[in-house]
Amino acid sequence: MPKTIIVSNRLPVKISNTDNEYQLSPSEGGLATGLGSIYKQDNNVWIGWPGQEVIEETDRDTITSKLQDLSLLPVFLSQEEISQYYEGFSNTVLWPVFHYYASTYATYAQSNWDYYKIVNEKFKDAILKVAEPGDTIWIHDYQLLLLPALVRNEMPDVSIGFFLHIPFPSHEMFRLIPWRYELLEGMLGADLIGFHTFDDVRHFISTTTRILPVNSSSNVITVNDRLVVAEAFPMGIDENKYSSLPKSKEVIEQAKQIKETFKGNKLILSIDRLDYSKGILQRLEAFELLLQLHPEYIGKIALYMIVVPSRDTVPQYKYLRDLIDKKAGSLNSLYRTMDWSPIHYYYRSFPIETLSALYSSADVCLVTPMRDGMNLVSKEYVASRIHDDGVLILSEMAGASKELIDAIIVNPNNIGEVCRAIIQALEMPLDEQKARMQQMRQLISKFNISHWVKIFTDRLREVKQQQRSMQ
Ligand code: UDP
Repeated sequence: MPKTIIVSNRLPVKISNTDNEYQLSPSEGGLATGLGSIYKQDNNVWIGWPGQEVIEETDRDTITSKLQDLSLLPVFLSQEEISQYYEGFSNTVLWPVFHYYASTYATYAQSNWDYYKIVNEKFKDAILKVAEPGDTIWIHDYQLLLLPALVRNEMPDVSIGFFLHIPFPSHEMFRLIPWRYELLEGMLGADLIGFHTFDDVRHFISTTTRILPVNSSSNVITVNDRLVVAEAFPMGIDENKYSSLPKSKEVIEQAKQIKETFKGNKLILSIDRLDYSKGILQRLEAFELLLQLHPEYIGKIALYMIVVPSRDTVPQYKYLRDLIDKKAGSLNSLYRTMDWSPIHYYYRSFPIETLSALYSSADVCLVTPMRDGMNLVSKEYVASRIHDDGVLILSEMAGASKELIDAIIVNPNNIGEVCRAIIQALEMPLDEQKARMQQMRQLISKFNISHWVKIFTDRLREVKQQQRSMQ
């Protein structure tokens, strides 16, 4: 029976090592939940890096057999491979260029590229160990852009889908990359290439047709007589989980404590991974402007800001963290009173129950990335608002803004506009809050993660049939 093979940089498990024994626990990310309905079925499998360097052959065997019971197949990577392929090429070339930070953050080291190719080959070898004609292979994200073509060369007829979870930049950005041809040729090995938004699709098609000798008609690119379809599939969340959690005993208890702590204050929530693309500093500037121009809010509002540690071995991220620490510290030292602080800043991650309690307690959720493929935090906030109140302020640079049009949409570079949006949110009448939130909740509920998986896989099947009917 034909199977589906999911491939991503990381496997959907967390691996820990206590007393020289490896333990595996499933991770709770949205992708893992959505694709769980696929990889756990029949003889399907998920291929990826288990998240840690494992040196000893015997340990690798133990982990492989534990993973096998969960339908997972590991690709083991050395520390050198991780630092050059992942921290290097993926996060100092692709991430900054695709988020429009080429001039500030991108560095183009040849050895990083060499390792990117080596690791993509390793993933190909893992796929070839299990793939058979008739199987479907669904490859995810920017760490594996070369993989579709590597697999296609070995298995010309196999069905390959690719989904990019970050933005695809305009041609003017993409063309800066020294290895632009190889990267595009890699992606074009897929039959169906999915993006979060229509703008990403547009950029991809115009970039491809300008850089490579290929033709396109609408969203179909012809590569050596093979049709490749590029289309937008905005990713959803596990809406059911986020709308059920606020009714659980634990979350109700935590939400009660939050309400008690912030009694008399309107709570503004901000949650991001540490990243320059998230606009965290600019958000603090907008909050500062609000306190400067409107002292009447002093003592009446609080910003609850979570920054989740990420990539902090990369110097630019460490530097950004220092700047955020300083800014939050200086605002607190300027404005705090004996019994009130403007900013409650946490540099760590929280369990989902605490996130849910925060989502359901916050009067305003402030999501202002400079650039974001989708942004799931904004969708999780909406899904958690089971009483239809609360206001979402959302950057127009986040993919989610194309769907959540009932949010207050802002340009995150316009500090004055963000400041005014916060005031609008704080003062918004309940009727208007409800009207906007109901619309957004309906959308999040309908276009949830299962729907996303279904429309992508259905479309891949259609594209394959169309290709066959033309042969
Ligand atoms: N998140 C988490 N723990 C935390 C804070 C956030 O697991 O302490 C999750 C959050 O629920 C969301 C994800 O991290 O699902 C962030 O996704 P998003 O698309 O907003 O940004 P990304 O980090 O993928 O760029």
